Amino acid sequence: METSAPAKTRPPVVAIVGRPNVGKSTLFNRLIGKRAAIVEDTPGVTRDRLYHEAEWQDKAYGVIDTGGILFGEDDPLIEQVRVQAEIAISEADLILFLVDGKEGIHPADLEVADMLRKGRKPVLLLVNKADAPDRWAMVAADFHAMGLGAPMPVSSMHGHGVAEVLDAIFERAPEVPFEEDLSDNLPIAIVGRPNVGKSSLLNAVLGEARAIVSEIPGTTRDAVDTAFEWKGQSLTLIDTAGLKRPGKVQRTLEYYAQLRAERAIQRADAAVVVIDGQQGITHGDKRVAQYAHDGGKAIVWAVNKWDLIEPPDGQPRKRSAVKQDFATMMREQSPSFAYAPVCFVSALKRTGIGAMLDTAMEAADAAAFRIGTGELNTIIQEAIFERPLSRRGRILKVYYATMPAVRPPTIVLFVNDEELAHFSYIRYLENAIRRHYPYVGSQLKIIARPAHEKKG
Ligand code: GDP
Ligand code: GDP
Repeated sequence: METSAPAKTRPPVVAIVGRPNVGKSTLFNRLIGKRAAIVEDTPGVTRDRLYHEAEWQDKAYGVIDTGGILFGEDDPLIEQVRVQAEIAISEADLILFLVDGKEGIHPADLEVADMLRKGRKPVLLLVNKADAPDRWAMVAADFHAMGLGAPMPVSSMHGHGVAEVLDAIFERAPEVPFEEDLSDNLPIAIVGRPNVGKSSLLNAVLGEARAIVSEIPGTTRDAVDTAFEWKGQSLTLIDTAGLKRPGKVQRTLEYYAQLRAERAIQRADAAVVVIDGQQGITHGDKRVAQYAHDGGKAIVWAVNKWDLIEPPDGQPRKRSAVKQDFATMMREQSPSFAYAPVCFVSALKRTGIGAMLDTAMEAADAAAFRIGTGELNTIIQEAIFERPLSRRGRILKVYYATMPAVRPPTIVLFVNDEELAHFSYIRYLENAIRRHYPYVGSQLKIIARPAHEKKG
């Protein structure tokens, strides 16, 4: 996301709290503008993102998905809502407390109201399923008694009242100053699951960099930013590790880690996704990388704790073979990020740290690199000449290629028939481009469009 003038405040972040079935998912989907997202009564549905950015009348805001915590079957309802409220109080600027206007007040609502009053974050009390306007005065009086201010009627399903809620968010949310000015810094996020070694790695980096190092003051709720120089370039490390939340249970810890990772990645140009070499690549690791990929960020894998895996000294051939096998395994298991280089590090022994920083810088540069139009067209035409594509008597022609955007690098091909330009051929063209420009650590988006759209 590119902004022309640096904003002084960051967008407000909201979280929705409430009992099951009051309509949180429905409201969430409405806020993030995705009809397709999951509305699911069955527990245990994994959502792949916990943090979303949306816009209302040209103003950005963030929404935390507290429905993304996976509770077990036997977790009592009240505990589930309590954990949600705890997360909302610690992570959001403003809380949307959703209750069910059809059912009326439930004992669990009262307990949550109590927590929220003590939490000292602004709260909007939203009475959902307020589908019958004639009964509203009565319902409102009941909910008013909860001591969270005037309740607002909404119908998440039909959208009534949602505009008023959005207006109220911008009125009531506190202005939060931007943590830092990243203008001539390269922001790199160090992210990963709990215990992969992020904190240790940050310390190792700072030991390596020596040239000191300032901790950027400001709100450090999500991440700690550290600025330093590396080979003449100012880097800012956005580190999500230092702050450990008192997650009572492992899944809350995972939830916090992922939420932090997502918010850190949004501010970064490159994400160093740290994994535990002993565990190999896990579903959680891929989730973090996927978020960076979808955000168009450069990705570097840092396989940490390599000291526990590496064969002893004196076997240099074996050492490089082990690394190669590991990198191959990573690419096979996460083919969508095959472009991400794999760095082997040990935060403990401080090995591989410099190379990792070099690679992260290179990846961030790659994501911002633009190929000149003339050269791009030459590369594409040569590739097509070498391996023309024809199907059922039709031949794919690329009239013109341009690169309208970077971060991520995006190439548009104007073609005679975009149905001919299927996935595997696009992949072939991508590889042809990468032979000239490897784009290490960066995805390459290639879009085929019918040429007649080119005009105008
Ligand atoms: P969650 O468990 O709090 O996330 O609740 P859901 O969003 O899954 O909604 C629970 C049920 O309430 C679903 O069947 C929704 O269709 C329904 N629902 C949600 N919002 C409204 C609303 O504004 N009016 C009515 N009548 N039903 C709603
Ligand atoms: P974080 O939760 O990702 O910040 O992980 P920490 O930095 O707190 O590390 C988790 C555990 O892994 C700690 O016990 C560290 O000592 C250990 N650890 C971190 N890096 C390494 C490493 O390179 N090698 C080994 N053997 N252990 C490590």
